[in-house]
Amino acid sequence: MTTRFSTGRYKASGHPNAYEAVNEMFDSAADRLNMDPQLRSILKTPFREVTVAVPVRMDSGKIHVYAGFRVQHNGARGPWKGGIRYHPQVDLDEVRALASLMTWKTALLDVPFGGAKGGVSCDPMNMSMTELERLTRKFTARIALVLGPQRDVPAPDLGTDGQVMAWMMDEYSSRRGYTPAIVTGKPVTLGGSLGRKAATGRGVVTIADSYYTAMGQSLKGKTCAVQGFGNVGSFTAQFWAERGGKVVAITDVKGGVYNAKGLDVPALSKFFDEKRTIAGFPGAEPMNNQDLFSLPVDCLIPAALGDVITPDNCVHIKAPLVIEGANHPTMPEADEDLHERGVVVIPDILANAGGVTVSYFEWTQNLTQFYWDEEKVNRELDVKMRRAFMDVHELARKEKCSYRTAAFMQAIKRVGEAETQRGN
Ligand code: GLU
Repeated sequence: MTTRFSTGRYKASGHPNAYEAVNEMFDSAADRLNMDPQLRSILKTPFREVTVAVPVRMDSGKIHVYAGFRVQHNGARGPWKGGIRYHPQVDLDEVRALASLMTWKTALLDVPFGGAKGGVSCDPMNMSMTELERLTRKFTARIALVLGPQRDVPAPDLGTDGQVMAWMMDEYSSRRGYTPAIVTGKPVTLGGSLGRKAATGRGVVTIADSYYTAMGQSLKGKTCAVQGFGNVGSFTAQFWAERGGKVVAITDVKGGVYNAKGLDVPALSKFFDEKRTIAGFPGAEPMNNQDLFSLPVDCLIPAALGDVITPDNCVHIKAPLVIEGANHPTMPEADEDLHERGVVVIPDILANAGGVTVSYFEWTQNLTQFYWDEEKVNRELDVKMRRAFMDVHELARKEKCSYRTAAFMQAIKRVGEAETQRGN
């Protein structure tokens, strides 16, 4: 029997861990709002943190005990909401940070949820489908007590997908009766929403479009480089190209590709479906992550892991605009440096909020058992994303601050009001 628990991977690095980094962002926004210290500590502290052991019988017959987490950060505005991550680097600090970001994201988009996140420290790339199913069922059973359609509603995140949500729904429903609203991001056949899979990438490009419109420019002809070709990166690239922009470079875990004239994104997606990587795509030069970050593009879109824009590599960024498709891709010191250099950063809690917004539509459809067509989903998503962008844009102008600080100000003001009105 083997066990793997939290590794505390940040401790040795000298940088703030992900949770401290999110709290730094919170504090600079709370300072500007002159927020009362007592309310501040309520808003910063997670409501509940659950750590569970997840013993799984592997295909070899041996049992491996994984560490699983669910952190419910703040539920003042509605049921806790947020994804489940399967990744070797998952630990309690990271899940806390991501749960907190969900609180601010749902508030900023004004969807009636709080913020949560969960995860299992495992390597899904090296597990079979049967092992993943057993892991998911055991994890679900062990956190089921704190879940519920009116309590806490998980969704996919890094390393999980619609299939994992289907198993979660089945496991939960087998004990409590048919409950589609227990998770979002399900396959459409099981009550998932049309448009949910593409929603995060669609939202990223809607935010880019809103930004260019606000600047009196157009996305048409603009070049971008995307780090990551998972659910967020692939749809971001697709919609960027569909709106007349040029995607010149993309990297994934195994490599990357570059073409100054613009990559053929549909052909690249086809190549990826067959090879499970974009590396080696014909008609493009190879590209690594470091070079991708320093390309002289109009927009850089990190859409993979957290903490990829570091104090070391941020000095090489030449793009005037960074849109955070991933969660917390920019370390605080790097964020400061970019701000000082006049690089505009559109923060994760705004840029990648398309996913949770359509999760809200999915939950609504499940509760009412009345299903929307895709056009309605995309239209409502567009309205919500553009409204949130304008709120942040106007506040940033008024306060003469970064989009990140403005986004946090808007979000924590909403959660603070809800918390105060609910009382103690
Ligand atoms: N995991 C996604 C996020 O980080 C979606 C969460 C959800 O839909 O609940 O925003």
